[in-house]
Parts: sequence; structure tokens; C-alpha cells
Amino acid sequence: MTELYHAIAIDNTHFFYLCPYDKKICPSLVHFHGSGLDSITNRIEGRSSHCCGDKGNNVEVIIDNHTLRKTLAIRGNSITFKKIRKKT
Ligand SMILES: [Zn+2]
Repeated sequence: MTELYHAIAIDNTHFFYLCPYDKKICPSLVHFHGSGLDSITNRIEGRSSHCCGDKGNNVEVIIDNHTLRKTLAIRGNSITFKKIRKKT
């Protein structure tokens, strides 16, 4: 079974999506996977899930015009978005 998610943010190294499960099932607020140095292109990325709630199922993550081109940072239970650092 494949779970479908929507990426909330993408930068040059990762894309991020919110974990939909109760924290008793999965302690993570957000899951992320490698973005392959492409923060620009809208697409669907298939991965195997890191999420306890998905039990290792495959996920498809939609990256579209609603996905912020930002770096996501997590501190405790809060999420902040930061400007993507330019590649040096
Ligand atoms: Zn999860």
C-alpha cells in the first residue's frame, strides 16, 4: 500500500512532510527524504517510509506550487521555515 503525502517544504538537500499520526503511534512531527539537489521542479517522489505509522510502506510525496521552497527547521514541537542557503 502506498500512502500519499504533500510536501510542505523543499530545499536543495531534503523535502519535508508532516507526519499525520498521533504522537503515541509516531513520535516524529515531520519526515524528510533527500531531494537530490533539486528544490525547483514540481514532481512526485516515491520513497519507503521512515514513519512508524506507515510501517515501512512506500510513500509518494507531492511537490507542487504549494510546497514552500524553504529549509524546514524543527525545535521541539515548533516548525520554522528558513531561506534556502545558496549553493557555494
Ligand atoms: Zn510519522
